[in-house]
Amino acid sequence: MILYNSLTHSRDEFKPREEGKVSIYTCGPTVYHYAHIGNLRTYMMEDILDRYLRYSGYEVKRVMNITDVGHLTSDGDTGDDKMLKGAKREKKTVMEIAKFYTDAFFADCKKLNIRIPDVIEPATSCIDDFIRVIEALIEKGYAYEAGGNIYFDTSKLESYYAFHDFNEEDLEVGVREGVEADGNKRNRADFVLWFTKSKFDDQELKWQSPWGIGYPGWHIECSCIAMKHLGEYCDIHCGGIDNAFPHHTNEIAQSEAYLGHEWCRHWMHVLHLNTNSGKMSKSSGEFLTVSLLESKGYSPLAYRFFCMQSHYRKSLVFSYENLDNATTAYNKLVAKIAPLLRGDDGAVDAEVFAQLKKRFTDALDNDLNTSLAVTALYDVLKAKTNAATKLAAIRDFEQVLMLGLIDAAAAINAAEDAEAAAKAAAKAAAAAADPEYARIEALVEARTAAKKARDFAEADRIRDLLAAEGITLIDSAKGTEWKRG
Ligand code: AMP
Ligand code: ZN
Repeated sequence: MILYNSLTHSRDEFKPREEGKVSIYTCGPTVYHYAHIGNLRTYMMEDILDRYLRYSGYEVKRVMNITDVGHLTSDGDTGDDKMLKGAKREKKTVMEIAKFYTDAFFADCKKLNIRIPDVIEPATSCIDDFIRVIEALIEKGYAYEAGGNIYFDTSKLESYYAFHDFNEEDLEVGVREGVEADGNKRNRADFVLWFTKSKFDDQELKWQSPWGIGYPGWHIECSCIAMKHLGEYCDIHCGGIDNAFPHHTNEIAQSEAYLGHEWCRHWMHVLHLNTNSGKMSKSSGEFLTVSLLESKGYSPLAYRFFCMQSHYRKSLVFSYENLDNATTAYNKLVAKIAPLLRGDDGAVDAEVFAQLKKRFTDALDNDLNTSLAVTALYDVLKAKTNAATKLAAIRDFEQVLMLGLIDAAAAINAAEDAEAAAKAAAKAAAAAADPEYARIEALVEARTAAKKARDFAEADRIRDLLAAEGITLIDSAKGTEWKRG
């Protein structure tokens, strides 16, 4: 499988350290607010990676953190504390906010068919692990205390700019983004591992540490949680592109300084979902959540389909018009699958199935090209083969795509069946109430047969006969209905 690696800047053949087993770490949500649909694009694409590796036969262990402490509004060490901001906004405690938005995040994941990672770990449950690693970094000379806080000393590293898209200039921009410069830092790129001197007097969550009462910086949590559950090596580390710097750069710095060897070989970054007016935001403009889409009548799985239609390494523009188009395409796809379910009784043609499957795996082996994988789905519908083979292929692809196509198609059939049953019941009731019913039905059928045989004279004769009895015929594409009067 070819997977683009942000660390090497190339499309690399993916090889886990241990044959047949893959360890994945994915940066999780900061639970101070709902996830926006941009965040969820990243989680969906990570879900595709996770599911596709499992589909390909790997044993996958995936870990995700929940950031419930330490993340400031700038990804550097400046700005407000996001959790504190959320708590103040809703007049609740930080832990109440964390619980509420963690649950909301998983509810969104469920709606979007995002598999819950094998391990979910909130930062606040790993404080001892953070302290242990920070102590080791100080001991090894990679961290220092200044003004009460503990900082990572980036000048001690042979190389710091892990994702070499980021040069000195980008870094300066990254630092300038912050509100105020931190005079304690020896080097511009140094970052906080542990805060004791916080600018937030009302910091709610604090812990005892060898350096005084305080709380951890944001970056240390991912390194520690990954190492706690995956050991000294991690095969693939994922996140949105904004995580590459400084977050992932700092994760690599501290993890490799601590371990003394290479930590994670493969890095996958998902490009952003933007709006026509630019960056997606939780604080300005329309706050785009899954619930908002639902309230406007959109299905979460149509949004998943919308995301699958583009490649994760391209930024994607969200607009309602684009989502409408995706919804129309999704509904058409489902409508084509529904009749297949009625004819699912033949044997699967193994050769055709293998050909169809190859198109699908070729697409995903090519750096998770989900839009080509969707094309492979259309190829199934166009294939010259029986319903059983088509359905077997769709069911197979759906283990990865998880678009809910079979369930949605079955729902169409169930609705059709319910409509037909209601009609039959209405007919039976009419027959019971009308002694002439069977005779009139027989005449209507005879007229239909005459028309089919192009015996129009006979058809007209029957119509006139019924008209004389006060019965009107209504012809439509579905057949002929009749009514008295
Ligand atoms: P956060 O909760 O802010 O820590 O972000 C959660 C995840 O969403 C991270 O992996 C981010 O990199 C990612 N992310 C943030 N904004 C976007 C966006 N507009 N589109 C896609 N992913 C995003
Ligand atoms: Zn992280």
